Amino acid sequence: MKLDLTGRAALVTGASRGIGRAIAEHLAAAGAAVTINYRGNAAAAAEAVAAIRAAGGTATAIQADVGNTDEVERLVKAAIEAHGRLDILVNNAGITRDTLLMRMKDDDFDQVLGTNLRGVFLCTRAVLRPMSKQRSGRIINLASVIGLIGNAGQANYAAAKAGIIGFTRATAREIAPRGVTVNAVAPGFIDTEMTGVLGEETRKAILERIPLGRFGQPAEVAALVTFLASDAAAYITGQTFTIDGGLVMQ
Ligand code: NAP
Repeated sequence: MKLDLTGRAALVTGASRGIGRAIAEHLAAAGAAVTINYRGNAAAAAEAVAAIRAAGGTATAIQADVGNTDEVERLVKAAIEAHGRLDILVNNAGITRDTLLMRMKDDDFDQVLGTNLRGVFLCTRAVLRPMSKQRSGRIINLASVIGLIGNAGQANYAAAKAGIIGFTRATAREIAPRGVTVNAVAPGFIDTEMTGVLGEETRKAILERIPLGRFGQPAEVAALVTFLASDAAAYITGQTFTIDGGLVMQ
């Protein structure tokens, strides 16, 4: 099955590197014009745009903090201006501030919730009007298996990711009549800068719990997201898909 997104326009938040970049590349390879959002790493975002263009795709980079209302409004407006429409939103931007709860500062909690959950809320709200007007759209939110099973040292991150799953379900029900689907993807451990900080011992302990015996690749998550963004997934909404080498089986 070839997934064809020709004529569609996508906005991927946090797409300067890691999973977001892979998603942007896959959507572009399927024919979508892609807006690559990033917060601070302009050089990496420019590199991601150049890679897509070199492969024959269409891409633009736009800086914005997804946790900031005004910046998100500007981002969505600029994305629509850049490619003339907006059909796909991938809420991927995310951060970690891992520490045990006893030592967790207010700021550790607020920053993680502010980017990972409030960011999803702000970006989703901002695309509702244009997607409702065109009576079609795809919203895909990056949750995490940590939002399902928890993890010591990640109470802030787990709360945000579990929040995304509830937000996905509520939004999916609310905007289904407008022809817009909303789904979440919950990756396990994927090889990116986010997991690159894990120590050797931690990594080994995690690997022992993964039936497929390895971390996932950003491209593997991107393939699932591209499927969910395509016409092939038209009858799927409100769902959360784990992609984790079998770590969590429900
Ligand atoms: P990453 O390599 O650390 O990349 C994070 C991306 O998010 C970067 O492009 C960064 O932009 C952007 N970003 C951070 N804060 C932002 C903000 N306030 N506004 C806009 N962009 C922002 O992360 P990743 O591992 O690819 O993770 C991507 C998503 O998947 C996250 O939501 C993460 O929680 C989720 N996830 C990851 C894993 C994993 O194992 N890696 C597992 C489950 C879920 P700059 O480059 O400008 O800083």
